[in-house]
Amino acid sequence: MKIISNNEYYVFNSNIRKDKITNQNSKNNSINFKNYSSNNTSYLSFKGSQRVPFTDEDYNNAKKNIPSLILEAKKKKPGHNYFNLYELDNLEKINGIQKGIKVFDGLTINEIAFILKSPKVLLNRCCPNNCIHCAYMATPSSDKTLDKISYEDFVSLIDGISELQNRVGENIIIADSIGTFFDSDCMEIELKDRNGNVYDYIDCIELLNSKKLAPPIFDTSGWNPKSKKHQKRAEKFVEYLQKPQNSKKISQLNISINPFHIIFAKAMELKSKFRFIKAKKMEENYVDRMANMLFTFTPLQDTDVHWGVLARAIPENKTKTKYNYNALYRLQIKIIDALAKRYKQDLMGENKFIKNSNDLNRYLEFYKRIIMGTEEYPSIDPIGRAESLFNDSEIENPLEERKKSMIKGLDNDNIKYYARLINPNGKILLLNDDISVETDLELNFENKGKVVKPFAHQITGYIYTAQSGMVK
Ligand code: SF4
Repeated sequence: MKIISNNEYYVFNSNIRKDKITNQNSKNNSINFKNYSSNNTSYLSFKGSQRVPFTDEDYNNAKKNIPSLILEAKKKKPGHNYFNLYELDNLEKINGIQKGIKVFDGLTINEIAFILKSPKVLLNRCCPNNCIHCAYMATPSSDKTLDKISYEDFVSLIDGISELQNRVGENIIIADSIGTFFDSDCMEIELKDRNGNVYDYIDCIELLNSKKLAPPIFDTSGWNPKSKKHQKRAEKFVEYLQKPQNSKKISQLNISINPFHIIFAKAMELKSKFRFIKAKKMEENYVDRMANMLFTFTPLQDTDVHWGVLARAIPENKTKTKYNYNALYRLQIKIIDALAKRYKQDLMGENKFIKNSNDLNRYLEFYKRIIMGTEEYPSIDPIGRAESLFNDSEIENPLEERKKSMIKGLDNDNIKYYARLINPNGKILLLNDDISVETDLELNFENKGKVVKPFAHQITGYIYTAQSGMVK
């Protein structure tokens, strides 16, 4: 990879442009030019659409070359039979195998491999939780930007991956795992198709499963117990996972309990201003929210679902704020107490989950064990919004340093560690911790070109190009 100047890059592209104008109809070209904005990535959609369409011969050659590609990989890694697409050498030998797969239109096989190295499809780009530690500075949804992938585009991507997988055969793994969220909570995932039909996370999980793709994680910080929509969604989710054939369709259920959630944080702020009555009410809101989540998920204790708890705080010696381990511990006790109360009410009343005292003890003990069963909780990192919560001495790499280091890393081997983010408009970004940078790659989504929310710590003025490395 090399860094080249803007000018050089234009020369490179204009050659492609001249070349293709002779082959393609000029109407398409003018549409692309009209869409050309001052945004530094727009020329790339032009570039993408000007790729020479693959011929049947390209496809047949690619198909013919698959066995020799696998043989080469086996020679390089004796004893191995399965290879990820991105780790194969000489991929250009099978360029054309993607012919006709709509979502990959305009991309070479090397570019597809680059995108599909542990990608995160951002189903929802918004989060109402507003946690004050959020590394990704997630914010609630806005109506001004495309914050969700359309159901059609999600289906097109998953179908495309599956079709490509069928074409290359089982020895080459197209996408080993696909993340489904980043700056959002899975309880909020709600995709729409062009007819306005709504699809929740269960629909997304089902789609991945139907194409034999790896089960995704489910993360949640709970929901407002008064929201009938969310409560119904959570109960539907529990009912779904209770079925033995579904319990492994998620790889893990992560529940997040922390003092950083905006409701609890607000309570702490009110307390510091001596507004104790309001603070108590806010704190109870958060505790009820968490107790309700645990109560609702109770039947999942009797399934094969893997549980994870995201309990985070900052060690006392690293922060002057109240978001420390002590606060987390006190919060956990309150949540467990509230849950015990809820279980007792159930025992005395509806018997929804608790039929006898054995049930009560068993379910409560399980939650105590997974939530409070550790002596040491992981700390959060001083990045994103969390940076402001740490003592200055704890911040080793301030934001600008992290950005510089990512820019440097884009021209060396580090790039393999960066996550690939697939925005709802199909654009691909690279992510290192909380820092992201645009690339010149994009999937052929129906919502291509739509404006999405920029990431909080997105590097501006640079773009990573798959062919030429970092471009300023
Ligand atoms: S930490 Fe998670 S739940 Fe909290 S605002 Fe960020 S994305 Fe949302």
